Amino acid sequence: MTEIELIIELHKDAQRQGPGSYAETVRALDMIGDDKNTLKKIADIGCGSGASTLALAKNTSAHITAVDLFPEFLEKLQQSANAQGYNERISTETLSMDDLPFADDEFDMIWSEGAIYNMGFENGIKAWRKYIRTGGYLAVSEITWKTATRPEEIDLHWNREYPEIDTASNKVRILEQNGYSLVGYFALPEYCWIDNYYRPMQERFSEFTDKHGNTELAQSIVETERREIALYETYKDYYSYGFYIAQKL
Ligand code: SAH
Repeated sequence: MTEIELIIELHKDAQRQGPGSYAETVRALDMIGDDKNTLKKIADIGCGSGASTLALAKNTSAHITAVDLFPEFLEKLQQSANAQGYNERISTETLSMDDLPFADDEFDMIWSEGAIYNMGFENGIKAWRKYIRTGGYLAVSEITWKTATRPEEIDLHWNREYPEIDTASNKVRILEQNGYSLVGYFALPEYCWIDNYYRPMQERFSEFTDKHGNTELAQSIVETERREIALYETYKDYYSYGFYIAQKL
């Protein structure tokens, strides 16, 4: 198995593939007020196995196009959508977020939790803007510094992993410079990382390494995750995922 196949194996049976929660998805959605009731078409980009997609289906009457690069995740979402009676309102598309076939103004809202980093925040919000109708919304969660300064170890780590990591005020400025107006912002609370993402992942580690013959590659994937978890536990006061809800002007 290749590295990416192993990473998919580790994550595909999880409820989510990044920090988040049902309550925080609803909290972000509620920030658009009564417009929530007028949403007809939403795209959920980098949806993974669809935790947010299902929350959006439950809390709106919109049709949701759920996009991910990996069909393994979309199959999981399709199963959940069928089981929960949303198969008419959720359709899945295997696509890359940087090469989407959508029409201009096609969506009332674009949603993306913990995924825009794959093409970069600024690239993503610029590229996706044309698919949102004027007055429509964008909601993205993205790793964000909570303070102006921070210890060197964590600063170096995240700048190496994702150089676009920044404070919320700088991210908001990027939104404003690219034709969006901020509607709301909050940082994901700790339980979204620990209870909903890292702990369930830790519980899969030994089964994962057993199943994959304890190969060096499988071990190194687990080691990388363990290191990320340890850094989060030490430095969680300094970063989280920020949830940015903005309107296209
Ligand atoms: N939104 C989900 C998944 C977040 S993890 C959640 O919050 O649980 C990031 C997701 O982006 C993964 O599902 C991954 O498969 C997907 N992804 C990575 N590169 C992508 C690309 N180029 N286009 C679309 N999706 C991509």
